Amino acid sequence: MKQKNNLPIYWNPDYVLDHGVETRTKSGPLAKILASGEVPGVEILSPLPATRDELLSIHDPKYLDQIINGDADLARSILASTGGVRDALDAMFISGRAGSLSSGLHHAKRGYEDGFCYINGLALAALRAINNHTVTKVGILDLDSHCGGGTFSMVGENEKVVIADVSCNSFDSWKPNSERHHLEIIRDAGEYLDATSRALSHLQGVCALIYNAGMDPFEDCAIGGMRGITREVLAERERLVAQWCEDTQTPAMFVLAGGYGGKNLDLDGVARLHLPTIREFARIHITPKPKN
Ligand SMILES: [Zn+2]
Repeated sequence: MKQKNNLPIYWNPDYVLDHGVETRTKSGPLAKILASGEVPGVEILSPLPATRDELLSIHDPKYLDQIINGDADLARSILASTGGVRDALDAMFISGRAGSLSSGLHHAKRGYEDGFCYINGLALAALRAINNHTVTKVGILDLDSHCGGGTFSMVGENEKVVIADVSCNSFDSWKPNSERHHLEIIRDAGEYLDATSRALSHLQGVCALIYNAGMDPFEDCAIGGMRGITREVLAERERLVAQWCEDTQTPAMFVLAGGYGGKNLDLDGVARLHLPTIREFARIHITPKPKN
């Protein structure tokens, strides 16, 4: 199959709330930067919203009804940005790599919201890779500053899911209980890139990768930031991840995950933190293996 050159990125204005936490505001300014053509080789595509039926595979029906019948703007944002995760997952099996400007996924539990996360799109994507794309081993790489305890609670026991999580903060930490699980909580910025490489080694052999590309380890983020984790460190992290995907020819998709303002960082600055992920994914070429 011929590689499509452009990186498909899912987003539409329904993702965006005009107030509140960056989880639901930053994709607006980021999409504007991408629409300006600042990053070559990307294509913005509008996803279909997630449906109640498809979310029943990961969430409690009562909890889903609370979201769907609750605040209309919030529900619209959650369903649109979760739909983007699903569409990006499907797209990576065609284009080799894809992304969605979605955030607020990895802390969500089966029956409740946690840490700004309502629907666990990472768990949804992992199960869809297994059930709809017949993937026998799917990797979840979580480099958000906080741990992905929600994801672990939903798919950690699934024999076809391999999890690698590097965090700078013990929020939502979880206990690895299988050789499929890798969690490292670093205490010093000097350990960060080596820890990223160890996480990638742990994922060796997965057939597809779902990447929670949080930028909240950045030192100027008021939530999650760690002194010494600079823009340069994060740019190198994104290069390592993307290069690993290309070298191993592993189809991969990313979502934005964390990234918050601070006294030296406004909303546009938060949006710009995510550009290295997009640049790196646009740079690499991955040819998905045909389905057997
Ligand atoms: Zn975070």
